Amino acid sequence: MELADKRIVVVGLARTGVAVARFVASRGARTTITDMKDESALTHFLEQLAGTEVALELGGHSDATFLGADLIVVSPGVPMNIKPLVMARAHGRTIISEIELASRYITAPMIAITGTNGKTTTTTLTGEICAGCGFTTFVGGNIGNPLIELVEQGTAVERVVVELSSFQLEGIERFRPHVAVLLNISEDHLDRYASYREYIDAKVRIFENQTGEDFAVMNMDDPIVAGIAARLAARVIPMSQRRELSQGIFHREGEIVFRWEGREEIIPTAAFRIKGVHNIENIMASLAATLITGCPADRARLAVENFRGLPHRMELVRELDGVAWYEDSKATNVGSVEKALASFNDITLIAGGKDKGGSYAPLAELVRERVRCMILIGEAKERMAHELGGLTDTRLAGSLEEAVGMAARVTGRGGVVLFSPACSSFDMFRDYEERAERYKALVRALAAGGGA
Ligand code: ADP
Repeated sequence: MELADKRIVVVGLARTGVAVARFVASRGARTTITDMKDESALTHFLEQLAGTEVALELGGHSDATFLGADLIVVSPGVPMNIKPLVMARAHGRTIISEIELASRYITAPMIAITGTNGKTTTTTLTGEICAGCGFTTFVGGNIGNPLIELVEQGTAVERVVVELSSFQLEGIERFRPHVAVLLNISEDHLDRYASYREYIDAKVRIFENQTGEDFAVMNMDDPIVAGIAARLAARVIPMSQRRELSQGIFHREGEIVFRWEGREEIIPTAAFRIKGVHNIENIMASLAATLITGCPADRARLAVENFRGLPHRMELVRELDGVAWYEDSKATNVGSVEKALASFNDITLIAGGKDKGGSYAPLAELVRERVRCMILIGEAKERMAHELGGLTDTRLAGSLEEAVGMAARVTGRGGVVLFSPACSSFDMFRDYEERAERYKALVRALAAGGGA
């Protein structure tokens, strides 16, 4: 892709915008960065642009800037449907996301991972397996470090593992991963999409440029994913926890089996440190993607056994008076809470936060069967109580502190307190990490003997 003398507008000035601007400017593009925030809110990123020749349009966007662009590159945090982008598209301007730009310069085999839940866990694990098998590996995308940083640094790597959100996939054109993984699809981000269908369509774009030389790892236990698998150009590697497959990857008592074109690898699960049905899904996806791209099974198995998981995803905080306290603040949608509830019995569930507009009904059966007491907080508490409150002992709390206190009082020995919100955190906290830390501090401060 020729960038010299092109007029390139970078939308969004944060870590990704900085890396994109630096890269295109270094290739001789006439670069402008625009952001809704003004200079005072962006000083940290502006400092990183020192020495880069770039024009700034801060505190808002002007139509003229967008219309004057040969190419518009959008940062992941910026919705594709903001007014100036819609207008520029209507005038025939080319609009792409940062991953599209970066992928044009990447030659190493790429494993791309998407889904509603499990992306970060699977991406991290896949990267660890590749590295553990001796490949120099870059792990990036939605996970924190933009793909364009790899391009900007010019480092040669043998494998690229990238986590993709639906938002990033909206801005692709030719992006073509050698292996694409679709973990699962359930309702999420209905606050940003007009419909569930639109969200699914964005996810499916991960496969759109693949050919018969590429692979698609598909979770056949998920009905929506299975429906998509039937119409792909890539070679499908099916994956299941429920049934044996003649070809693909599946889980049966105590082992994961990978079968592909006469090859059979058996990987025992006993020594895995990360637990739960959802993690079997994540591990199978990582194994399929890496075994098909040259990783030997014995070294891949070791990498999985050494993987301890990530914080804020069903993390055990402590055990106190026979009660296990779990923190699952990253569970910001119903699909992730379903997996958390399926992993325990005798649960006191603390949930709620900022409502994303989806239905809580998929939790009903699990709440009825496994949740002894449900304590609801945040903006969503009334709606959650309305949809699920009749199914178990349900209480409303005014704060997370109050909720933790209630949970300590009602949960008996052998029980589990699970903070798995099913909502985002922005009503009461800066982000899910701050919410997690607050919960953990409250739980650590509980005194023994204070519970039920
Ligand atoms: P993502 O990057 O897609 O948000 P994470 O790995 O950060 O995924 O996990 C987010 C939440 O989803 C956590 O609560 C975690 O326990 C849960 N989770 C992880 N893997 C899965 C899965 N395969 N299916 C459902 N929930 C999952």
